[in-house]
Amino acid sequence: MVSTPIGNLEDITYRAVRTLKEADLVAAEDTRNTRHLLDHFDIHTPMTSYHEFNKLDKAEDLIGRLESGQNIAVVTDAGTPGISDPGWELVRMCLDRSIRVEGIPGPCAAINALVTSGLSTVRFSFEGFLPKDKKELERVLSELKDETRTFVIYEAPHHLVKTLELLLDRLGDRRITLVREMTKLHEEIIPTTLQGALDLYSETDPRGEYVIVLAGKSREEMEQERKAAFEGLSVEEHMKLYLDQGIDKKEAMKKVAADLGVSKRDIYKQLI
Ligand code: SAM
Repeated sequence: MVSTPIGNLEDITYRAVRTLKEADLVAAEDTRNTRHLLDHFDIHTPMTSYHEFNKLDKAEDLIGRLESGQNIAVVTDAGTPGISDPGWELVRMCLDRSIRVEGIPGPCAAINALVTSGLSTVRFSFEGFLPKDKKELERVLSELKDETRTFVIYEAPHHLVKTLELLLDRLGDRRITLVREMTKLHEEIIPTTLQGALDLYSETDPRGEYVIVLAGKSREEMEQERKAAFEGLSVEEHMKLYLDQGIDKKEAMKKVAADLGVSKRDIYKQLI
């Protein structure tokens, strides 16, 4: 699994070049794209295509070659194979057959965007492209609403505004950083908010490749939201909130007491 540049060809590693030269075959997502890369580094290894639409059938063929002793370098159009690109299924198949797999580390748009976003890198989640299927999309968005980790989304420029609108609507406004055209001439890091980004693109059209890095929800925000949910409720109504979730009476009393910062006995007294 050989990582290749996401723009600037200087980002290829010595080891990637050597691996591509020494391999018996390069399995490339788009052979025309990879041809430029190989030509640039004077690499003459034969190529075959391995992409989203032939990945399962083609994997069998590649596995056959690997089992006969060949070495195959898998590359995609840009960055790390398997990351929002085909590749992981082939790795699974190799590992299942005890075929040795090696990753040649290198550029990955998600990681480069994350580390230049100015948002916390302590814990993060990679979301790739949001799902196209509406139901699955809503499921993911509802999970992301309360995500406390920083999260990273890939998006194509012509869908960017729609995605930003959707994120603002479902998640509420929050800090984001748009990282565009990384490692290229027009590279830009735009620390903003979802609303700020929408204001920006109401005047200009998004162009080039983008990664959206979003701040996770802070624990304070979570706590505030939790408190807002029971503000103004009577103890009975507050209890019902938990009982309706299938929580038993004893546990519900404990939770109400914790929410209000009083003892369980106080709640008990108020309920009888
Ligand atoms: N495998 C790749 C990787 O390791 O990052 C990702 C491939 S995915 C099909 C392509 C998406 O990655 C783009 O739509 C964009 O969101 C992001 N991307 C790739 N190169 C980029 C760059 N130079 N600047 C900003 N985003 C980039």
